[in-house]
Amino acid sequence: MSRTVFEIGILARAVWDLHSLNNEGTVGNVTEPRTVVLADGSKSDGVSGEMLKHHHAFNVWLVANDKSIFCEACQTLRPQRADALGTLSKEKEKEAAILDKVLKGCALCDLHGFLRTAEAIPRHSTVEFGWAAALPDSFQRDVHTHARHEVQGRTRGQGQPSQGEESAEAAAQMVYHRPTRSGTYAIVSVFAPWRIGLNEITYRYVEGVDRKARYQLALDAYKAMFARAEGAMTSTRLPHVEDIRGAVAVSTSNFPVPLPSPLSDSYIERLETMKEHCDGLEVYRFEGLDGLYRVLEQLRDRDLFRLSLGK
Ligand SMILES: [Zn+2]
Repeated sequence: MSRTVFEIGILARAVWDLHSLNNEGTVGNVTEPRTVVLADGSKSDGVSGEMLKHHHAFNVWLVANDKSIFCEACQTLRPQRADALGTLSKEKEKEAAILDKVLKGCALCDLHGFLRTAEAIPRHSTVEFGWAAALPDSFQRDVHTHARHEVQGRTRGQGQPSQGEESAEAAAQMVYHRPTRSGTYAIVSVFAPWRIGLNEITYRYVEGVDRKARYQLALDAYKAMFARAEGAMTSTRLPHVEDIRGAVAVSTSNFPVPLPSPLSDSYIERLETMKEHCDGLEVYRFEGLDGLYRVLEQLRDRDLFRLSLGK
């Protein structure tokens, strides 16, 4: 019999070319790419964990056939999640009972967490992402200058415009500068299926929650999010996803899954060495998106670790 799943770590190097997925912001007509600083002081290119987590949450919603498993806010992808729900009862409910109700009523609030301000009830996400950070010697950046043209002006044909037409075209034109980046990105994510449906005030699993179905939904959302890279400026800089390879680590007992960073060349070897000294740790290497899908498919039917709560 296969062992239960406590936590899943996804460690990968993804090659994304010619994208502008995440930017510092735009000053005037210049958009600045995200820069991160690594431990040795070197500067690198990055895509934030917020961006990746948002993309996973979106895919939880996308791949669920029945949207009624989400609360009212999550059905329409409002970021407030459980905070958008009105008063949950005419009388003041105890916080634990409120949390029970929210977790039972919404798969996305359960998986991705929320902060409900009405009663100050936080729910820590079961899915976490680090920055996707480019390997310091494996990224390129370029800034391209673009001009927005009046469509009519570009398709007018070969005839010479009159002086009046020329000035109208200049007014409709705007020059702007956008970054384009390519790189091999180190990705770290951890998923804690043992916490699905767990009320962390009472430390009891909420009754009536199909924990396995939510687990499978989160795995499917991982498949969907890595199917392509999403983020900013994809309407004109849809990334070329060249490669993804790495390892999926599975902790089958109540012990945190280790996450050696793919910024280091030896991350998979280290993980495999750890496996020899850590009972209950499984490591599955993968190459390519198809390889990642195969590993995630194999994990779909596993049972989830359940805390032994006693009395
Ligand atoms: Zn929700």
